[in-house]
Amino acid sequence: MQHNLFSALRAGWPADLDATAIECADAGVQHPALLYTWRDLDRSTAMLANLLAALGLPDGARVAVQTEKSVEALLLYLAVLRAGLVYLPLNTAYQAAEIEYFIGNAEPSVVVCSGKNFGWVSKLAFKAGTAHVFTLNDDRTGSLLQRAAHHSAEHMPVQRAAGDMAAILYTSGTTGRSKGAMLSHANLLSNARVLQQAWGWRTPAEGSDVLIHALPIFHVHGLFVASHGALLNGSKMLWFSKFDPKAVAARLPEATVFMGVPTLYVRLLAEGTFTREACRNMRLFVSGSAPLLIETFDDFRARTGHTILERYGMSETVMLTSNPHAATDGERRGGTVGRPLPGVGVRVVNDAGAACATGNIGGVEVTGPNVFAGYWRMPEKTAEEFTADGWFKTGDVGRFDAQGYLTIVGRSKDLVITGGYNVYPAEIEGLLNELPGVQESAVIGVPHADFGEAVVAVVVARAGSVPEASELIALLKARIANFKVPKQVFVVAELPRNAMGKVLKNVLRDAHKGLFDG
Ligand code: AMP
Repeated sequence: MQHNLFSALRAGWPADLDATAIECADAGVQHPALLYTWRDLDRSTAMLANLLAALGLPDGARVAVQTEKSVEALLLYLAVLRAGLVYLPLNTAYQAAEIEYFIGNAEPSVVVCSGKNFGWVSKLAFKAGTAHVFTLNDDRTGSLLQRAAHHSAEHMPVQRAAGDMAAILYTSGTTGRSKGAMLSHANLLSNARVLQQAWGWRTPAEGSDVLIHALPIFHVHGLFVASHGALLNGSKMLWFSKFDPKAVAARLPEATVFMGVPTLYVRLLAEGTFTREACRNMRLFVSGSAPLLIETFDDFRARTGHTILERYGMSETVMLTSNPHAATDGERRGGTVGRPLPGVGVRVVNDAGAACATGNIGGVEVTGPNVFAGYWRMPEKTAEEFTADGWFKTGDVGRFDAQGYLTIVGRSKDLVITGGYNVYPAEIEGLLNELPGVQESAVIGVPHADFGEAVVAVVVARAGSVPEASELIALLKARIANFKVPKQVFVVAELPRNAMGKVLKNVLRDAHKGLFDG
């Protein structure tokens, strides 16, 4: 069967192509606001796809993109799909050494970067054999758009086989070297369709949804989950190039769907103008990419009357599980990531690979049409990460409850083994976070001569509090087995996080690795 994800998304657009598809909604944006109609999306992606086609690139050529977030950057993504090429988004935070690695590893035929980085990026790219380097800025300037302006606004999407690659996403690399997850047109489309049903997206005929898009677009959450949702359902997007809680709160009354990483919810709650009234037309708040604290889940419900829907997924698989959308399918449970999405298999297994009993903790393995084919040019790594019966080992550790809701307990690499006992950081973090004066925490294992590893906690104090490490340790001792109690607790101003809000435990482990030396 022939496929093109772009064509499938395009089929969901409203009949009235002159309706607004995307409105730029940043604080201080000039009036009249910058609007893009569905026709604009169609024509601009056609021009960009024609430019790419005119370059005469080989089949399966990669287009690597490191630019600030802009509507044009999203259009470039869609144009790459439309042209049947492979999109490779790169985190805007990456510096020269990281970009050199990605370009060297992926060997893109085309690199698109911000004008301000052209000097060093083009040097790296040409050295690695890239044929074309274009610029794209967040103010609708740059050589990419200049060149595309000379091309026709008509373009027939290039048909691909279902399993052909549509994108390579380099894993966020909180541990080890980043690997390129190869996602096909069918992976991405099947997941977009599953979420369309699971989250009750309203089609134009049903009185469309309006999505607030405030996530970066170099990652699975903002690029696929959020953008595909709106594009497949012909829903308007209120587009924020960066997240600003006040600006988002001001536009919320016009919106029905919001997607965020947990830190965005914490920041919204700290914003005085974020009120129940501001959320009056909202129907869905989705959280994912990192664990949502129960406290945030509860505070959010108290403030807005809305219950955040938490879901779980990863670059290699897109979305895997979700809390229910419809009340008739069950409640949304804080601290859980819900149940497997339709068509997705999720199992929790012990070290021997046997299924764990309900409530027991084990490795999370998954299968489904959404699961990637493998890591780019890493057949051995790919083989290691799949079981003999073809399930992908996510590297997450979790447990199912009796109602089939999954709780993610942590990454298997973050598991602490102390004196032969397993300690799951999330359990200790959950307890610490409930203690007086504690805002949040991260628990790590640190090398220890006697125990192999010792449990250590890094804690952020609540504003105005000064929790005593010794007191926190004493309180934990009264509640849990001694081997789980941190040997040391450090109180810090903030935890190191990556762009998606994930705590960088490798950075903490590094900082404390010599703690028990000598
Ligand atoms: P990435 O590939 O960067 O999207 O990272 C995927 C990883 O993020 C997963 O393997 C999980 O460890 C974590 N993750 C994603 N969503 C959640 C969630 N709702 N709760 C806990 N961890 C999550």
